[in-house]
Amino acid sequence: MKENGKNGYLQHSEDMDHVAMEKLTIQHEMRRALENKEFVLYYQPQYDLASGQIVGMEALIRWMHPERGMIFPGDFIPAAEESGLIAPLGEWVIEEACRQNKAWQDEGLLRIPVSVNLSFRQFTEKNLTSKISGILEKTGLHPRYLELEITESMTMDVERASQDLRELTEMGLHISIDDFGTGYSSFHYLKTLPIGRLKIDRSFVRDIKQDPSDAAIVAAIISMAHKLQMQVVAEGVETKDQVHFLRSHRCDEMQGYFGSPPLSSNSAHALLMEKVNR
Ligand code: C2E
Ligand code: CA
Ligand code: CA
Ligand code: CA
Repeated sequence: MKENGKNGYLQHSEDMDHVAMEKLTIQHEMRRALENKEFVLYYQPQYDLASGQIVGMEALIRWMHPERGMIFPGDFIPAAEESGLIAPLGEWVIEEACRQNKAWQDEGLLRIPVSVNLSFRQFTEKNLTSKISGILEKTGLHPRYLELEITESMTMDVERASQDLRELTEMGLHISIDDFGTGYSSFHYLKTLPIGRLKIDRSFVRDIKQDPSDAAIVAAIISMAHKLQMQVVAEGVETKDQVHFLRSHRCDEMQGYFGSPPLSSNSAHALLMEKVNR
């Protein structure tokens, strides 16, 4: 610690400088990384709870940093959002997920949708629909095999969201609500927007067997979703007990380490090959 370290203000401003510097560095590095193709997508399978079949894959971004190794999205997506780099990065994610899914389908592997996470910034871009339709055209992926995951906070402007989402679903895409139950919650958007699936956040799933409140919440979400003709995916499923609970409450799908962790594209490919050869 420096001698005048007790000077709170000085220390504070030095910390701020440090934080600002780090931000600049990471933003600069991300630009370079995008050009150098250091970003990759991992794929986490989603399983039908009744049949055990793989029914979808969620694309999750990773940064393969040449010196620092694998960096997880929590450590760079916020900076990408702040700097505006999320626009080209998010577009790359959609295109790469579509390209990969189409390549797997062309090989004769399972035809299943790939889900992509949309950031708030992307969702509020004016030309999102035309960008996505351009990507689908370019990659040749049928729109029914692309699902967009949005969060509840993105639906706050229901009027706007409903126009965009309607355009996207008319194109054939599916929409799901990510981290359901953790965000701004209102039942209004659920009856207004064309939402196909709710993904129950893993904070509710984790203690499903020990905590009666979590169990009640999860059971209520499942039954409400079904009455609204929506499918339900449980996130962060790690144990057999959780699977039993979810199955007995007629949850449709699960995603989590119990089924499989997120896989590199090579490992995901190998898993899909197994399903064909069985
Ligand atoms: P998310 O969309 O809720 O994704 C699920 C996260 O939970 C992933 O973390 C996944 O690796 C992790 N996970 C899956 N199964 C389990 C489990 O059984 N237990 C536990 N404890 N965790 C599990 P990841 O890959 O680090 O991603 C974190 C978040 O970063 C994502 O949360 C999503 O909000 C965001 N993200 C990831 N990829 C993208 C992207 O391409 N674009 C944008 N905008 N955001 C992304
Ligand atoms: Ca997600
Ligand atoms: Ca989630
Ligand atoms: Ca999350």
